[in-house]
Amino acid sequence: MTDFTMTRDADGVATIIWDVPKKSMNVLNLEAAAELGRLVDEAIADTGVKGVILTSGKKDFAGGMDLNIIAKMKESAGDDPARGLFDGLMGFHALERKIELMGRDLKTGQGGKPIVAALPGTALGIGLEIPLSCHRIIAADNPRAKIGLPEILVGIFPGAGGTTRLTRKMGPMAASPYLLEGKLSDPKSAKAAGIIDEVVAPENLLARAKEWVLAATPADMVKPWDQKGYKLPGGAPYQPSGYMTFVGASAMVNGKTQGVYPAAQALLSAVYEGALVPFDTALKIEARWFTHVLMNPSSSAMIRSLFINKEALEKGANRPEAPDQSVKKLGVLGAGMMGAGIAYVAANAGITVVLIDATQDAADRGRAHSEAILDKGVARGKVTTEKKAEVLGRITATTDYAALQGCDLLVEAVFEDVTVKAEVTKKALKALPADAIFATNTSTLPISQLAEASDKPDQFIGIHFFSPVDKMMLVEIIKGKKTGPRAVAKALDFVRQIRKTPIVVNDARFFYANRCIIPYINEGLRMVAEGVEPALIENAAKLVGMPLGPLQLVDETSIDLGVKIAKATKAAMGDAYPDAAVDKVLFRMADLGRMGRKSNAGFYAYSDKGDRLGLWDGLAAEWPVSADQPDVSEVQQRLLFAQVLEAVRAFEDGVLEDIREGDVGAILGWGFAPWSGGPFGWLDILGAAPAADQAGALAARFGARFAVPTLLAQMAERGQTFYGLFGGGQKAAA
Ligand code: NAD
Repeated sequence: MTDFTMTRDADGVATIIWDVPKKSMNVLNLEAAAELGRLVDEAIADTGVKGVILTSGKKDFAGGMDLNIIAKMKESAGDDPARGLFDGLMGFHALERKIELMGRDLKTGQGGKPIVAALPGTALGIGLEIPLSCHRIIAADNPRAKIGLPEILVGIFPGAGGTTRLTRKMGPMAASPYLLEGKLSDPKSAKAAGIIDEVVAPENLLARAKEWVLAATPADMVKPWDQKGYKLPGGAPYQPSGYMTFVGASAMVNGKTQGVYPAAQALLSAVYEGALVPFDTALKIEARWFTHVLMNPSSSAMIRSLFINKEALEKGANRPEAPDQSVKKLGVLGAGMMGAGIAYVAANAGITVVLIDATQDAADRGRAHSEAILDKGVARGKVTTEKKAEVLGRITATTDYAALQGCDLLVEAVFEDVTVKAEVTKKALKALPADAIFATNTSTLPISQLAEASDKPDQFIGIHFFSPVDKMMLVEIIKGKKTGPRAVAKALDFVRQIRKTPIVVNDARFFYANRCIIPYINEGLRMVAEGVEPALIENAAKLVGMPLGPLQLVDETSIDLGVKIAKATKAAMGDAYPDAAVDKVLFRMADLGRMGRKSNAGFYAYSDKGDRLGLWDGLAAEWPVSADQPDVSEVQQRLLFAQVLEAVRAFEDGVLEDIREGDVGAILGWGFAPWSGGPFGWLDILGAAPAADQAGALAARFGARFAVPTLLAQMAERGQTFYGLFGGGQKAAA
């Protein structure tokens, strides 16, 4: 079975069809690339072939390179991996250069045959890089198709000629959103931007491609960069206009990446240096920078967590055996911030929703939340008015529990209060079918305790959404002591329906995500109390790749929530409670009425309109800044170890059963330094022994919260890595 086949018609047009057997989407692997090369050679050599159409046998053209292969390329590149990678990349360049020339002699300009890429649908990554080497790209007018180079989003960049070709086709400035941000466009926008050349009605795609091939002149077969007098659109770097592009781009990249994402900087270097030299040298430079990125452990860690493992979790890597549990009718109890968001994402995914609150007014407000989101979509042209009506039509807002009849899943999101929750649980269970699964969205209360309100605790589970529900991609599924496998399967199937990413954890205080994020916030607050300059704390966090500093984060989640959690934790832990120093800061902010963003006052100052202005200038009066400030790396160590040690403990305790979930959950749930692939990825990059040494040193100076977990100490002694030991989903030894 082959991925590429070639047919020839009576008019001398050969069609190379990409159609990977048994897959719904074409992705490229190394063998298939070689096959394509052989077919192109054949077409060039065959005197009966006048020109070639490259297309797909599927509804889309291609999803890109098989990222599993990129992740493994380094391992299989031999004793000198950088050399092996570079040679492999030059092989791709040779293939595309062969397509680009189609037998034409670069020096004499003689020979050559036209080749056109005919894209029926989505063309991503190498699925666009190959077309970019064709003489023309024609796409079917398929508004759902996505065209672009999203490599940067998983920690690499378009390294099979896409960077060099797109820059030369569009100019660095116009190419930058596609290269640096991984922007995707539908065919019409891609045509308007100049990425592709033509958009035609889907039914005319192949006929138009053939027409173009038969009419192509020798000039049509020469790419702009192979023509005499070619000039880079927008200006080369040494021209005033081009120079400004690069100054701006460099500042933007550094501002956005804080210098921690090697791919963005390498990409920019490839573009800049490539723009100074002839095309074939630019390809070599691109290959060198791409090798540099692949040699950096961050790229494999990002591909692993953000692509391979994220997808594995979405496909149900940890789903228990059970028949399909797709949700048909969902009940949501509590139409507040969370309940309203849950109702929206479910209705948007085609699920019928009953949204219940204590008063009809509150229930209606919850439904109006969906309307507001949909209205924004309509205003931006992303949602049609029909779709809006359809989604809203699926949500019934009511106070009547009888409407829960026929619901196969219920998510409870009423006030965070055991008594209130128990009361609504009992009421709802009376109206629900006997086999319905009952889920709670609690963020702090033990699932096993809440399950006591149910006479069917095996059908009781935690489904913990993050706020705002429509934006946050992670859903934490929590098994109570008695939760059964069907409830887990139901929760996972529901999360798949609403196209989010699940992790499944066991029941313990704060579950997984909040358990790790609270120590991060607390470490920031401790440092404020110690007299560390608040700006140093915030910037140190951002410079190591955290999206928000701890003080901004606590402002966003609100000081009063922090106070509430601190009080509840203290009540539960008694004398063992370790965070008195944190509470002093938190409680003082609450006393000052500075509750965070929602009160327009917190660690930051805000404008009347709610724009964040900068750190509050009253902080120093409350917590004087000491003359002796720590080094930025010490602040970063404290902030990162506070999180990763908690993640290791959660894994050791069995709350987290799979480090892949720990890493994916950390990045999607609270933005843990994505460049590292997550807390376990970060520890592997650092190495267990240096990690244990650094944590030990922090523990000696700052206290037992940094004590080295037994598992990490053992791994340090044995020279092991987390992914080496547990990368296949293995549990920590009990
Ligand atoms: P909220 O106060 O915005 O909404 C709670 C809603 O429940 C209100 O509309 C209220 O009228 C309704 N309600 C209260 N008692 C009720 C009753 N007896 N019957 C019917 N409805 C009743 O709160 P929220 O932020 O949406 O939080 C809801 C739940 O989600 C809590 O358990 C919370 O811990 C959890 N949670 C919150 C967040 C967050 O960021 N806010 C994140 C994850 C989980």
